Amino acid sequence: MEQCASVEREVDKVLQKFLTYGQHCEQSLEELLHYVGQLRAELASTAVQGTPLSAPLSLVMSQCCRKIKDTVQKLASDHKDIHSSVSRVGKAIDRNFDSEICGVVSDAVWDSREKQQQTLQMAILEHLYQQGMLSVAEELCQESTLNVDLDFKQPFLELNRILEALHEQDLGPALEWAVSHRQRLLELNSSLEFKLHRLQFIRLLAGGPEKQLEALSYARHFQPFAHVHQREIQVMMGSLVYLQLGLEKSPYCHLLDNSHWAEICETFTRDACSLLGLSVESPLSVSFASGCVALPVLMNIKAVMEQRQCSGVWSHKDELPIEIELGMKCWYHSVFACPILRQQTSDSNPPIKLICGHVISRDALNKLINGGKLKCPYCPMEQNPADGKRIIF
Ligand SMILES: [Zn+2]
Repeated sequence: MEQCASVEREVDKVLQKFLTYGQHCEQSLEELLHYVGQLRAELASTAVQGTPLSAPLSLVMSQCCRKIKDTVQKLASDHKDIHSSVSRVGKAIDRNFDSEICGVVSDAVWDSREKQQQTLQMAILEHLYQQGMLSVAEELCQESTLNVDLDFKQPFLELNRILEALHEQDLGPALEWAVSHRQRLLELNSSLEFKLHRLQFIRLLAGGPEKQLEALSYARHFQPFAHVHQREIQVMMGSLVYLQLGLEKSPYCHLLDNSHWAEICETFTRDACSLLGLSVESPLSVSFASGCVALPVLMNIKAVMEQRQCSGVWSHKDELPIEIELGMKCWYHSVFACPILRQQTSDSNPPIKLICGHVISRDALNKLINGGKLKCPYCPMEQNPADGKRIIF
């Protein structure tokens, strides 16, 4: 943080100088133009072609030339000054940041270089597809000779096509998709299809009284959702009363709010991603953001390890040498720490639920077995260790 501040200070200096330079530059040029303009007027009125300049005019002219020269020189030296400030920013970055961060982990921890490169390329590719930058993704595919089959990119292409239509306020493709995935969306408790129909209905309402019949007949689409969205449907039906008067002047004017469109894009992205098993946020962005938080801590650890000459501590591929708190938004699933061993459970040491309902890790369970029997450490119920069931969070 401290390092950032010192670089930011230098950047601020450059920006400040740049601003003053711009203002100064504009001012000087304006003055010059004014001067030159005056001179030109003078010349036009007095000078006759072929006659030498009068003494006062020639004096004014030479003054003008000097002024131009001075101004240009001043601007050039200011420009040079900015250059040196910019290079100071570069030096501040070099001074405050480690240029070599690969060394934070020993090579033995990673996969082979080719494998790393391939993983990174795939992550970038997925990110590009997810962000809708399809042509850039295609180009990367060709240049990197990555073999991406259609099954991988198909969901992204489809989502993008539908989202693009939604941005254009075209509900057709999204409705078609939602209807064809109705059953699975319902299993996810998604209200996407209802929200799409609602928006379509509102759109008809916005058309005024002449759309009343059409809106009424469209309302039959709400029928399957009547039990879950009763209240919202009542609101929409109520709004019909005000159609003659104009919805925008009625208590229902909130229906016409443009925020519904942003909301539908969000709902669609979230529900479609969860249905297709994709993450809403790009894994690359999430990893990058997490890396930015974790890297300074890891750099410190590395320095400490080197100092104490215990570089062999970090040897596991799937585990950092210390726990790094990434904040709530990086919590994706519940974790369970064994109350006996005070260790987070893992695939090799999963949480086990005893028949009394208490949960401990398998390693703890194995340690507690005595003569083929297990006594729960919390409610001393005696039980058969084989009766414990693995819990999956
Ligand atoms: Zn118990």
